[in-house]
This record gives sequence, structure tokens and C-alpha cells, in this order.
Amino acid sequence: MKEPPVCSICRLPIPWGIVNPNHPLFGTIDHVIPLSKGGANSAANRRPAHRYCNARKRSGPIRAELVVDCRTVIVGVFTRSPALWPRGRRSRALLRAAGVQLSRTPIYKFPRKGSQ
Ligand SMILES: [Zn+2]
Repeated sequence: MKEPPVCSICRLPIPWGIVNPNHPLFGTIDHVIPLSKGGANSAANRRPAHRYCNARKRSGPIRAELVVDCRTVIVGVFTRSPALWPRGRRSRALLRAAGVQLSRTPIYKFPRKGSQ
């Protein structure tokens, strides 16, 4: 499976397939120079960012404190949501380096006959 994009703010993966635009991990476009400050809507000015990180950044600069705050929140969301862990090697390395304890057990299991 193709590696998902990496958030330009927290540097953690933006999982494929999140369709709820209010989900903190939903993929959005961050404009390096905000449109409100005359930035172009060109590819060079567009970078991927999580919904949460983009909302926290608003039209301000990417400060170190912002990155720390965003990473803390996004790591928390990933830790609680194993179903959203991307399967790519790069994505998993980024999550592991950020402190997400990736379990070795398979995430998707077929229910056993007789259970539930
Ligand atoms: Zn992010």
C-alpha cells in the first residue's frame, strides 16, 4: 500500500481513508504563505496537514511549541486508534519514533465461529 502523506506541521502520517472532515487526523491543505496574506494556491505553497494541526496553526508560523503540542495530541489520537495506523514502513517508523506503542498483534481479526 502506498505510504500516506506526512503532516507538514507535526511530521506524522496522515492516514488514508478518513472521510469525516472533523476528525483530527483528516487530511487538509496547509498554505505555507496563507491565502489571507496573499499566498498563492499553487502546488509550491500547498502542504498536507492534519485537520487538528492546521486548525492550531491557523495563519501563524510553525513554532517549536506548536509542533510539540500538535505531536502530543496526534500521538494520543493514534495511540487510541490502532485501526488508523498506516501499514507503510515509513509511516510505522515515524509513529514508533514519536512514541506510539505499535502492537505486534494483527489489528483486523476475523471473529471466531461461535463468538459474538
Ligand atoms: Zn499533524
